[in-house]
Amino acid sequence: MSDPRLVAVLGGGQLGRMLALAGIPLGLRFRFLDPSPVAAAGAAGELLTAELGDLEAVDALIADAGVVTYEWEGVPVESARRVEATHTLLPASTALEITQDRAFEKELCHRLGIGTPRFAVVDDRAALDAAVETIGVPAILKSRRGGYDGKGQAVLVSHDDLDRVWADVGGVPAVLEAVVPFTRELSVLAVRGRDGATASWPLVENHHRGGILRTSLAPAPGLTPELQDRADSIATRILDALDYVGVLAVELFDVEGELLVNELAPRVHNSGHWTIEGAETSQFENHLRAILGWPLGSTDAVALCAMVNCIGALPDHVSALAVPNTHLHSYGKEPRPGRKVGHLTVTATSPDELDTHLTRLQGLPGTVDTAP
Ligand code: AMP
Repeated sequence: MSDPRLVAVLGGGQLGRMLALAGIPLGLRFRFLDPSPVAAAGAAGELLTAELGDLEAVDALIADAGVVTYEWEGVPVESARRVEATHTLLPASTALEITQDRAFEKELCHRLGIGTPRFAVVDDRAALDAAVETIGVPAILKSRRGGYDGKGQAVLVSHDDLDRVWADVGGVPAVLEAVVPFTRELSVLAVRGRDGATASWPLVENHHRGGILRTSLAPAPGLTPELQDRADSIATRILDALDYVGVLAVELFDVEGELLVNELAPRVHNSGHWTIEGAETSQFENHLRAILGWPLGSTDAVALCAMVNCIGALPDHVSALAVPNTHLHSYGKEPRPGRKVGHLTVTATSPDELDTHLTRLQGLPGTVDTAP
């Protein structure tokens, strides 16, 4: 007998943990599958420990589940298809297939008339010579599959770099992208329900360092209705084309108001964490509402927010919580250099107030790093 209130999740990291924290008040239960016996989501639901490619473990995960979802885009497509043979997987496995491959992702955008950086598919070393003729320099070579947080990428500044960048990405199928002179990096999070209804949260401005997201400002400073409309139109076209159900994140380059798609993530996203405190309905709650076929909640912002990732270590709790309007989310993870172990969300009613709080956080003991 399946339990309509049991949500099975492929992956059990902090995104799964925050999904459960949003779903428990709705009367939902959670079961996660993750290779780590101490995965972050274990604190908020049942945790099965096995590789996500282990099909027997997948069967155990979904056995009596009402609905199945994922919180990691690296879930093997075979496992996703195994789920679909007997259960409803949302978003569907097609979203994984496309977003696991940078070339498929960009080709989808082009089919839909959505801008991306100029690119060429480079499936072998000879193709790189041809690609650089079309794309020119500077350019970035990115592996088609398996790259995240800036890994599997190499910058090419002259034609002498071809052998080096090919070796740097590991000599695997790749795409060569023109370097875009963007003004800033943005992301739009959008959600689509089972009935096809869509909604998106206000655009977010993202600051990365070392390929890792450090700070998100929401709504993005200087956001105009026109820019939001452009982002909504991009997200909605992708959601509809994939018959997508759940939350989708679209990472964008803002080139003086023109939006180009950098990357898609078929899941709740780090740049949407601010919605827990800063929006009428969080990305986590709306993802659950969508996959369960429930009405979507309003995505309106209720405050100005800054979300600051805690990388490598958490700040001292007492000092962080002494900063007004600051909310600490610890993921219960062992600190390790470069690892996301938590985040802080600061809310405010004006940009000046937000700046004041952020400046105080910057001076904290621990590794709070709010510098854009
Ligand atoms: P990605 O893993 O594709 O999100 O890339 C990591 C970071 O590298 C992005 O957040 C950008 O800061 C930068 N980047 C990636 N692609 C480009 C591009 N085509 N032009 C300029 N910067 C880029």
